Amino acid sequence: MPGPIDLHTHSSVSDGTESPTELIHAAVAAGLGTVAITDHDSTSGWHEAFEAAAGTGLTVIPGMELSTNYGPASVHMLAYLFDPLDGGIIAESARIRDGRLHRAERIVNNISVDYALTWDDVLAQSTDGGTVGRPHIADALIARGHVASREEAFGSILNWLGPYYEKYYAPSTLEGVETVVRAGGVAVLAHPATHGRYRVLDERTVSNLVDAGLSGLEIGHRDNTPDGKERLYELARKYDLLVTGSSDYHGLGKPNRLAENTTEPAVLEQIIARATGTTPYYG
Ligand code: AMP
Ligand code: FE
Ligand code: FE
Ligand code: ZN
Repeated sequence: MPGPIDLHTHSSVSDGTESPTELIHAAVAAGLGTVAITDHDSTSGWHEAFEAAAGTGLTVIPGMELSTNYGPASVHMLAYLFDPLDGGIIAESARIRDGRLHRAERIVNNISVDYALTWDDVLAQSTDGGTVGRPHIADALIARGHVASREEAFGSILNWLGPYYEKYYAPSTLEGVETVVRAGGVAVLAHPATHGRYRVLDERTVSNLVDAGLSGLEIGHRDNTPDGKERLYELARKYDLLVTGSSDYHGLGKPNRLAENTTEPAVLEQIIARATGTTPYYG
C-alpha cells in the first residue's frame, strides 16, 4: 500500500525491544505503507507479524538479517522473501543461533570475572528460542546497574576490541549470498559502510558477491559514513545494484526511528519481482 517503505527492523525475536505485534503496531502508527521484519538469523517473528498486520493495510515483507563473516569482520546481509522452509537457510540460521548462544555464555563468563553477572540475567532479557546477542547482555548489565544504556555497554564492557569479546560462527559473506539466493530470496548488503565496525568491502569482493547473486546495497542507513555512501553509490551504478534505505529500528534498543531512511517504491517492486521464495503479506 502507498506510504513510506522501511525494509530493516528488529523485534524481540532478536534484539529489538518490541514483540512482532508491537513492531507492526508501531509501523502502522508511524504511517508506513510497507515494513520488512528482519530479525537477526531468525524467521520466528514472521507469522505473528502477519497476524498483527491483518486488516491494517500495512504490507509486510518477511525477511532476515543474516550474520556472515568476511575475514575477521562481521558483515550483515538482509535477505528478503526467501522460502522459510528451505533446508539450507533453516540449517544455516539454526547453526548461527546456536553458535551465538554459546558465544554469549562465553562473554558472560568473561565478564563475570570482573562484574556480578549471571547467565540467568541474560536469559531474563531474551525471548525463548530467539536470537541472543550482545544487546541482551547489555540489558542484563543495565538491570544489574553496571551501565546506564545499551549504548554505554557497547562503548565499554561489550566493545568488540575489549577483553570480554568473543566471536560466533557465521558463514562467509559469499556463502551467505549463495544461501539466500538458493532459498529464492533477494540479498542486500546491510549498512555496508559503517564507521569502524568493519572496513568497506572492496570492489573485487562486491563484484564476486554480485556474481553470486547479490541484488542490492543498503545505502540509506544512519551508520553508513558520508564518504562510504558516495563509494557505494558508484558501486551500485557500476554493478547495476538496487539501492535501499531503512531505519534498522530496534524499538527502544537504539535511537533509530521508523522511516528515518526509506526505499523507493520502484526498488521494492524489483525486490518482489526477483524473489521466488515467498510473497509479501498484504495486510
Ligand atoms: P552481536 O550481533 O551480538 O555481536 O551484537 C551486535 C548487535 O548489537 C547489532 O545487531 C546492533 O543492533 C546492536 N548494537 C551495536 N552497537 C550498538 C549500540 N551502540 N547500541 C545499541 N545496540 C547496538
Ligand atoms: Fe541488532
Ligand atoms: Fe546489522
Ligand atoms: Zn539490523
